[in-house]
Amino acid sequence: MLAELHQKSSLYFLLNQIDTDLSEAYRIQRCPDCGGPLHRSYYERKPRGGPELPQELCERKSLCCGRQGCRHRLLPPSCLFMGRRVYWGLAILLVMTIRQNRPEGCYTKRLVDQFGITRKTFFRWVKYYRDIFPESICWRYMRSYFRATVSNARLPGDVLEAFISHAGDAAKGVLKCLKLYGNGLFFQANQGRKGFAQKMGLRNGF
Ligand SMILES: [Zn+2]
Repeated sequence: MLAELHQKSSLYFLLNQIDTDLSEAYRIQRCPDCGGPLHRSYYERKPRGGPELPQELCERKSLCCGRQGCRHRLLPPSCLFMGRRVYWGLAILLVMTIRQNRPEGCYTKRLVDQFGITRKTFFRWVKYYRDIFPESICWRYMRSYFRATVSNARLPGDVLEAFISHAGDAAKGVLKCLKLYGNGLFFQANQGRKGFAQKMGLRNGF
């Protein structure tokens, strides 16, 4: 059952490990603005929608340039967090996927209760994935990375389903999907910064 995954602590530990590894991979590169050294500058988040977890998992693995006068802050891709959203990325992905697999409306109350989200937040996410996400740079980036047929009308659920089907395992599919999603958001956040993709080892363009 997909819904049960959001209470599975081991999954968050794995996502945190991926975030830490990604952050370290970016840290050993130089500041994209001035070439200075990058240092860890993690900050606390208070994510909702998951189990009780140790504090080290509730940190955004941010980096900061150590050169005086630059102090550029770099947010490496994250599998745990979706930008500034308060809820765990995993919770958002699961809630929206489960909703898409159920008849309209009848499952809303159950999902809202199960994940501890407000109805207002729930419908904000629905609107976001219906109206904004299909047009986003993040989605265009993600789309270029897999071949499965995915309808823009069923995002992000069809993406997750494609990953699960390919991996043959729900947890593995979730990990892979969130990793690609994190890279997509990172690409979107830094799109327009000249030469950034090459400096950071990302594929440029779509
Ligand atoms: Zn710098």
